[in-house]
Amino acid sequence: MPNCYNCTIEKQMKTEGVKYKSIYFRFYAELNDFLPSDKKQKIFEFEFAGPLKVQEAILAMHIPLSEVDLVIINGQSKKFNYWLKDDDFISVYPVFESFDISSLNALRPHPLRETKFILDAHLGKLAKYLRMAGFNALYDPDFKDPQIIDISVDTKRIILTRDKALLRSVRIKHGYYVRNINPLKQFKEIICKFDLVSQFNPLNRCLVCNQLLKQIAKIDVETLVSPDIYNRFTHFYQCQQCHKIFWKGSHFDRMRQFIYEISKSV
Ligand SMILES: [Zn+2]
Repeated sequence: MPNCYNCTIEKQMKTEGVKYKSIYFRFYAELNDFLPSDKKQKIFEFEFAGPLKVQEAILAMHIPLSEVDLVIINGQSKKFNYWLKDDDFISVYPVFESFDISSLNALRPHPLRETKFILDAHLGKLAKYLRMAGFNALYDPDFKDPQIIDISVDTKRIILTRDKALLRSVRIKHGYYVRNINPLKQFKEIICKFDLVSQFNPLNRCLVCNQLLKQIAKIDVETLVSPDIYNRFTHFYQCQQCHKIFWKGSHFDRMRQFIYEISKSV
C-alpha cells in the first residue's frame, strides 16, 4: 500500500504535531464519475501534510491524469507539477469537446480529445461536410438509436441528431440537438458550437466511409484512375478501408475555399 496517496496522506495527518494544509477542489463533468458521492459536483476540502504537487492530489482522488485536460488554480491554468499551497482553490476539467481551450491551457499544447461524432440517419449530408473538413464523423443510415448510443458511450463520440427523443437516454454523456435543417447551415452550426475552425484538416478522411486517407505515389494510381485524371494531377490519396482514390484537383481547391469562407463566417 505504500503507493496509495490517500493512505499516505491520512497517515501523515494522523501523525501528532504535523501541520497540514487545506486546499479546495471542484471537479467538473465526467470527472465526477471517479469521485465518491459526497464529493460529486461540489467544492470540497482536501487536507495534506508536507509538499504535494497538484497531480499527486488529483491521483489521490483516483482521477486518471489522462482524463484531465485543464487545471485552474486560483483562476490561472497550471501544470501538473504545480506545488500546492494552503487555501489554493482548484478547478479540474475533463477533456473538452465543447470549446477550444488551446490558448489558455498550460497542461498541453493541444486539447486531449479528438472531437469525434456519430450522426443519426437524418444527417448524412452533414456527415460528408464534417469529413470534408477532416473530422471523424461516423454515419450509417442503418444505425438504430440504441446502437448509436452504445457506440457513443463506448468510443466517446458526440451524438449529433435532429431527434430530441434520442437524447433523452440517461446513458448519453455527449449529445447535441442540431437546430438547423439545411445541411450547410448545420455544418456551420456544429463548427461554431464546438469551436472547430482550428482543427480543420481537409483531405484527411474518406468522404464515403470516414476512414483515414493515406498519400499514395502517382505511379501507384496509374491503373486506378482515368488517363485524363492521371495526366492532370500530381497528388493522390487513398482510403485505407474502401480504397477509393482522391486527388488534389479543382475539387480540393473548391473545398478549401468553402472551408475558408465558413471559418470567416463563424
Ligand atoms: Zn473509404
